[in-house]
Amino acid sequence: ATAVYTTEELIIQTANDAMIRFWGKDRSVIGKSLIEAVPELVGQPFFDLLKEVWRTGITYTATDMPARLRINDELQWSYYDFEYRAIKNEQGNTYCILHTATDVTAHNLNRSTIQENLQREQILTEELAAVNEELASTNEELNSSNEELLTSNEELSFSREKLAELNAQLEVRVRERIKALEESEASLRTLVMTAPYALMILRGRDWIIELVNWQMANLWDKTLEEVTGKPLLMILPELEGQPFPDLLKQVYETGVAYGQEEEVFFLNTPEGQKKKYVSYHYDPMFNQEGLVTGIIVAGEDITEKVEARHLLEKSYQEQQVLNEALAANNEELLSINERLAVSQKQLKLTINRLETSEARIRYMLADAPVAISILSGRELIVESANRKMLEIWGKTAAVIGVPLAKALPELDELGQPFLKILDDVMTTGQAFYANEIVALLEHRGVVEEIYVNFVYYPVQEANGTINSIIVVATDVTEQVKSRQLIEATGARFRFLLNAIPQQVWTAAPDGTLNYVNQVVCDNFGYNSEEIVGHGWKKFIHPDDLAEYMEKWIKAVTSGTEYVVEFRLLFKDNTYKWHLARALPLIEEEQVTLWLGTNTNIEIQKSNEQKKDEFLSIASHELKTPLTSIKAVIQMIQRYKDPAKLEPFIKKSAEHIARLEKLINDLLDVTKINAGKIIYNMEPFGFIQMLRDSIANIQYTAAHELILESNEEITYTGDRFRLEQVMNNFLTNAIKYSPGADKVIIRCKTDQEGIIVSVQDFGIGIEPENLDRLFDRYYRVDNTAMRFEGLGLGLFISAEIIKRHNGSFWIESEPDKGSIFYFRLPLSLSAAKQQVVQTDTFYRANHLTISYNQTHNRLDVDWIGFQDVASVKKGCMLMLDYLIKNHCDRVVNDNRHVLGNWSEAVDWVGNTWFPMMEKAGLRYFAHLLSPSTFSRLSAKKSIDMMAGIITTQYFTEIEQARKWINERPS
Ligand code: ADP
Repeated sequence: ATAVYTTEELIIQTANDAMIRFWGKDRSVIGKSLIEAVPELVGQPFFDLLKEVWRTGITYTATDMPARLRINDELQWSYYDFEYRAIKNEQGNTYCILHTATDVTAHNLNRSTIQENLQREQILTEELAAVNEELASTNEELNSSNEELLTSNEELSFSREKLAELNAQLEVRVRERIKALEESEASLRTLVMTAPYALMILRGRDWIIELVNWQMANLWDKTLEEVTGKPLLMILPELEGQPFPDLLKQVYETGVAYGQEEEVFFLNTPEGQKKKYVSYHYDPMFNQEGLVTGIIVAGEDITEKVEARHLLEKSYQEQQVLNEALAANNEELLSINERLAVSQKQLKLTINRLETSEARIRYMLADAPVAISILSGRELIVESANRKMLEIWGKTAAVIGVPLAKALPELDELGQPFLKILDDVMTTGQAFYANEIVALLEHRGVVEEIYVNFVYYPVQEANGTINSIIVVATDVTEQVKSRQLIEATGARFRFLLNAIPQQVWTAAPDGTLNYVNQVVCDNFGYNSEEIVGHGWKKFIHPDDLAEYMEKWIKAVTSGTEYVVEFRLLFKDNTYKWHLARALPLIEEEQVTLWLGTNTNIEIQKSNEQKKDEFLSIASHELKTPLTSIKAVIQMIQRYKDPAKLEPFIKKSAEHIARLEKLINDLLDVTKINAGKIIYNMEPFGFIQMLRDSIANIQYTAAHELILESNEEITYTGDRFRLEQVMNNFLTNAIKYSPGADKVIIRCKTDQEGIIVSVQDFGIGIEPENLDRLFDRYYRVDNTAMRFEGLGLGLFISAEIIKRHNGSFWIESEPDKGSIFYFRLPLSLSAAKQQVVQTDTFYRANHLTISYNQTHNRLDVDWIGFQDVASVKKGCMLMLDYLIKNHCDRVVNDNRHVLGNWSEAVDWVGNTWFPMMEKAGLRYFAHLLSPSTFSRLSAKKSIDMMAGIITTQYFTEIEQARKWINERPS
């Protein structure tokens, strides 16, 4: 028995008759679920077992399993051997269960047959599985198998028909033969013996075998001799218990013939019991009285035929099951095929879509505005690169398929980092991002600098390995270069603003400060962020704040120029006057920026103040003599006597002279400022000029003016102007020594120049005021009130001396007096230089340099008057000897220096000392000059020097040498 269940509900897809018989149902159960079809199985284990098989796909086999089934409306117990086999599709899922069962309740079938059947079933099941597989693989094969099976079926039914026909013919012939027997008893024996089938005649109640032919004996596996004349049951005792004796009896008693087609007949043989199938006919033989005397038994051994038929039937059944299963499979396959067809269609559509989108992506990449490339493998083969990427590389599509290192050899040759980074990305799987990286790439044979933003993106395969990198890059060269240009412009602009010596600032349109230059920071001692944060207010003098605020707010609101003056507090805690000025930058009718400057006008302001002071002094100075002259004139009007008037007239002449001098001084200052003084350089007798000016002054002076020199020299210069210098020195000497009675004038000449000095014994000058006396309007504070004057005389004198290439200086001691000097060079001087020079020694008129090897030092001695030219020349010689002798220390002796070399101070401090430091100078011992002006110049230049040279001042040469020798190397 076979059934096929589908789905988890166990729908009976098919069941053969045997199975239906087992269930005690009819074919209406097909299509129903098993539980619906055979409800009496509920409570028995079969449903659970089936479900388990469905779920696990594991075949379940059972032997001698009892089942209670309703057969002919009666619940009966039967025993079955059965198997639930899960049939699976290609995915390994169960799609049906094949149920085969054998009823083992009745043990009337011998074991071997069952075994055989089971084996055959097994083979068939296996074949079925094989066929299933084959069918699954090819649909056409299934169809052809089906056709073959159909043909076999047809053949089978054809042979059945033939058999039936044969039987019918046989029957007819038997009947004809019997009739013939009736007609002729005599011919009976012949008939029996010659019958083409088994025939015998039984006589009497013991059924003595009267006549029997060899066919019948064969049927029993006996010989004719063994059976003829013997009682039937003696020959075949095994008939006992089989239906034949009773039937024979029945025929004998009733006289009614009996026949049976296909009866089972068990025969004992030496090999054991044999099952045979026979068709037979019992015909009673009557005597004349009509009594039954014997029975004619006709038979035919149809065992082979039946077994063949049984086999055929069985195989037919099996084929049926197979067919049904196949049909079901077929249907399943068809539906699978249909589904496959549908999904194939969908797949095709998807592929089409993918192909289109791939094409689109490829098109997009090719034309993308960013550069894209894919590099694959350790070799970094250029898998693809779009137009932009090729542009960046400066290469053609020929690089595709080539390893990157070969496509762009300059990456390696120029030691660029890209290949290494790519290798790292490949190893680590970490993407790499970078901006504004410069790449050197060869474009048409020229290496170009290209700035790129780029990403190296590793592409991970399904198994996690990295086999390719997507490179996305943008060429930002233009942006970077233009930004660099802007930055450079900005830097230049800032440089420009910082280079301006004024405070420069910018403010936003609303007036908030947003930039200040370095000058502002230097002035206030804050950094630019702090100042931008503070704004100006913090630095403006409280008295100037209100005006500033008002003007600035007005300017910002009206967008017009802003100008204001205020005092700003510098880091040294002093206020300095500034002129603040700002202009709005107007772009597209909008103020976009305020650009402002604060100009330090402190000097102008103080000059203004000085000018004011000067004007008041000057008016006072001019008014005093005028007042006196006015008084004299009134006296002249009153007193007509000339004798009485004499002293007054003399006095007023003095006042007029004084007025004239004041006015001349003022005129001279104006001329000096305008560079308009004209000098008449002519040779004249110098001492005579001194004598004349002394005489002029002596005329009105109470002091005795003593000239301590008589040596006549001819000097070329402006006699009138030099007389003016002398006048000024002499009047000052008298004016500032009210308690003294003399002034001493000296004049010394040597081959190089004339030195004049004017000594007084008056109030003297504090050292701190000394070097400013020659400035315009400068007057020593505590004397200014006591002595009249404009502070112009020394200024004018200094100008005149400078124009004669001369120098001037003062030696003074407060309360003791002053000596005012000036020196005028004689032009012949240079020619008379005598120079001695070796690698370690130099000597000229005004300078000696010697290298002391023992102490590795330079000894330098300056002699006499020095000016800018002689100082510069001597200093450069010092540098030369320092380098030549690899020396780091100098003893600089100024003890023999005279006069003033202040004009060279800046050069010495700012230029010469740094050069010396670079050449190795570390220690500098300075022996001070007796000349105050020279000392001042030395100190000023050393103060200016900013460096690592250690300096010390000395007055004693031995001390200086000791100090310098003790310095470490
Ligand atoms: P003035 O004498 O008109 O003030 P000068 O230019 O001649 O102007 O002198 C400038 C200043 O130098 C004087 O005011 C004074 O303080 C100072 N001064 C000039 N000569 C002497 C001197 N012989 N003794 C002291 N102080 C002097």
